[in-house]
Amino acid sequence: HAKSAGRGRYAVFGQDMDAIVQERRSIEQDFRRALDSEDQITVLFQPLFSAASGQITGVEALARWDHPTKGRITPSVFIPVAEDTGLIERLGEKVLTIACRAARGWGSLKVAVNVSVVELRNPNYCMKVANIIMATGINPRQLELEVTESTLADKNGTCEANIAALRDFGIRIALDDFGTGFSSLSRLKQLTVDSIKVDRSFVRGIGSSSGSDASIVQAIIDLAKATGLKTTAEGVETAEQEKHLQLAGCDDLQGFLMSEPVSEAAITELLSGKHERSTAQPVR
Ligand code: C2E
Ligand code: MG
Ligand code: MG
Ligand code: MG
Repeated sequence: HAKSAGRGRYAVFGQDMDAIVQERRSIEQDFRRALDSEDQITVLFQPLFSAASGQITGVEALARWDHPTKGRITPSVFIPVAEDTGLIERLGEKVLTIACRAARGWGSLKVAVNVSVVELRNPNYCMKVANIIMATGINPRQLELEVTESTLADKNGTCEANIAALRDFGIRIALDDFGTGFSSLSRLKQLTVDSIKVDRSFVRGIGSSSGSDASIVQAIIDLAKATGLKTTAEGVETAEQEKHLQLAGCDDLQGFLMSEPVSEAAITELLSGKHERSTAQPVR
């Protein structure tokens, strides 16, 4: 009995593994094609707003993939595949180029682009970015690159060398998803970045009964300020979270409460003042 149950389990396990491998391979193939296509990969822009004034302070570029038969596929599915296959370098160049072109129509508005640790491990990364900036003609000071904590602990130091070169060039660096990685609060002052983005998981807990997330967010903001770093809160969804973050002294807010990621045209419209807003009014 036990034996057949064991065999059965093994067969099911084997089948599942096969299905997973197959699925991943097909995503990889399709993603390769998507990068070659004109219309499958697009970029949306989510605005960031000053917590104090409600003014728009920048936008974050977020990649989207519209699969011809499967519909929209989320970045949490295709980014890991792109990283494992090296295709992330082509995606990164594509998103950065689209974002820089869009930025030309937005005056001096800050445009943030996410960068994978895989891209930063390429010693030529900073040159690639410089080339895209020169080709599109934007001011490097308009560009912010969002990196994760893993890039600051890279073994051979290539990521850190890239980050230093990018900063010398005038590009700002933001540490994304802060609080989810290895960094301790005491390491904040050693970080060679310009700002931190407090991870959504902490923001989500603001206003919950325990109150510990609110204290953590306050501690992060206080220490960031003390070390000269700007702060952005991600994933602001409620007016209560917004109010708390304003009182906590957070510089910028980003989240569905203010605006979902929207098209380039919608950002242009927002900047034209047709949507004069207070932070309580969604942009959409
Ligand atoms: P991220 O850089 O932390 O981006 C923020 C994510 O949170 C976005 O998800 C955004 O749509 C979502 N978000 C914003 N406000 C809210 C909110 O109020 N509530 C909730 N629940 N979510 C909110 P998205 O676009 O699905 O991207 C997920 C992740 O994929 C990004 O996280 C980033 O790490 C990665 N990603 C997206 N585009 C790119 C890209 O072009 N290159 C690289 N390397 N990674 C990218
Ligand atoms: Mg980001
Ligand atoms: Mg983030
Ligand atoms: Mg996040």
